[in-house]
Amino acid sequence: MSQARLASCIPLPIEQKTLVNVIEKAKDWALMHGVGMRDRKHFNKDVIQIAPFALLPSPFPKAEFEKAVELQPILNELMHKVAHDDDFLMNTLQNALQVDEFTANLYDIWMKVRKEQVTQPISLGMLRSDIMLESRCPHTENQCAKHTPYCSWKQVEINSIASGFGHMGPKTREIQSYILRQLGHGDLIKNMPENRALSGLCAGIIEAYDLFGVPTAVVLFVVEEVSYNICDQRFHEFEISEKRPDIMIHRKTLTEINEETELNDKKQLVIDGKPVAVVYYRSGYEPAQYPSTKEWDARLKVERSTAIKCPSIHYQLAGTKKVQQALAGPGVLEKFMGCGASTSRVRDIFTGLYSLDFDESGERAVEMALADADRFVLKPQREGGGNNMYGADVRDALLRMRHSRERAAYILMERILPPLVPGYVVRPNAAMPPPVVDLVSELGIYGVIIGTKDKVYHNRQVGHVLRSKLADANEGGVAAGLGALDSPYLIDIRHKKISKYNTKLL
Ligand code: ADP
Ligand code: MG
Repeated sequence: MSQARLASCIPLPIEQKTLVNVIEKAKDWALMHGVGMRDRKHFNKDVIQIAPFALLPSPFPKAEFEKAVELQPILNELMHKVAHDDDFLMNTLQNALQVDEFTANLYDIWMKVRKEQVTQPISLGMLRSDIMLESRCPHTENQCAKHTPYCSWKQVEINSIASGFGHMGPKTREIQSYILRQLGHGDLIKNMPENRALSGLCAGIIEAYDLFGVPTAVVLFVVEEVSYNICDQRFHEFEISEKRPDIMIHRKTLTEINEETELNDKKQLVIDGKPVAVVYYRSGYEPAQYPSTKEWDARLKVERSTAIKCPSIHYQLAGTKKVQQALAGPGVLEKFMGCGASTSRVRDIFTGLYSLDFDESGERAVEMALADADRFVLKPQREGGGNNMYGADVRDALLRMRHSRERAAYILMERILPPLVPGYVVRPNAAMPPPVVDLVSELGIYGVIIGTKDKVYHNRQVGHVLRSKLADANEGGVAAGLGALDSPYLIDIRHKKISKYNTKLL
């Protein structure tokens, strides 16, 4: 199938000598401004190397970008309501729990905490809604894609835990601005939207801290045993420390929380005699991060405490793939959002999402996927990339699981086909100069929401990150080395609605 294309922001290829020269400069810029990661193969705490990045910003339609930014507070509120609807979470997750031990463990903690009475009614949601342009046009009458290289955008997922790249998003805008200037195209920088993701996300932590209201309190970042994506974490700490020198931040692994913190009689989580106001999980979203019961004990301890959690356990459950799929079901959005215009706008961003529960509709979904496996992605209840299945693997997995309840741990999702964009990717230790490659991009929009079940104190959109990957790669985790940091270059193509059945390029 020939895939739709968007043109690069400047003509490609770049002349070889110029290209090599600008990459040399850009790599040094990256190292000196924290666009870096630790090397997985030759780990050394004292060394960082460049994180992979796209040399030039990737085109993204301005109208679609603006729509995504505008919609974020609505999505924040939706997630907030979902996280606080106990019955909905219970009903939605019950089948997956039977067969997915990790989700079941999270769920058990949630049950225990509710039984003991929740000690902290306020939650801090730091969300990232990930979207891709869809080049396939589902409305054969419209044929938008005949006129523009995309039809709409669709949500890939919404993250409620450890939404990364708050530092890297804005920094990529800066490095690509520098590169454009070096190439004599500084006039194009105005098409790259402002990005204040880091300060916006950190403001959320500071606001939660102030709501906790204890001047001696500290903030706790929950981290992995080894942090490869270290720049993306530390810059949050640097930012908070600069804005609020009075706030002390601790970093601890789940094991360290188990050993080095305690719950006092007021149910405060205490570190070195100081109560913890906010717990921010940079870890804790996948089974590998809980190698023993010690880590689960630590998680339970935090959830029992009065600290404001980002996310609290019900927020993490609300961020599961299963919940995302359930929200696309008939009447579900209406239940949370009523029947107004916002509801149809949110419905519009969902692509086909199907349950694989052991019932009639699950059976229909299995049959549909077996008939045309390339159209779908099969997703387990996991985060962090590299867990999904595509194409022939979807078929094999469904044939294997068809008669087993195991399939309820997965959801089936229509595969989004984004337009291709030519570009260069700069990677550590790669041959120079890099070739022009076809990329596809995924835009993440950050949202911050703070509130209780009944009252929302803060709710806003706070910035974005673009990640691009080779067009033929299924997944593009930047931390996993597959994707590249990028930023949007806004272009002005629009659909103009001529009639209900017709759209044309303006
Ligand atoms: P994770 O929680 O592991 O990040 P995602 O749902 O974000 O799970 O999927 C990981 C990656 O797989 C995405 O970043 C995207 O590149 C790809 N992907 C996921 N769902 C789709 C889809 N429906 N169509 C196309 N690509 C997808
Ligand atoms: Mg993802």
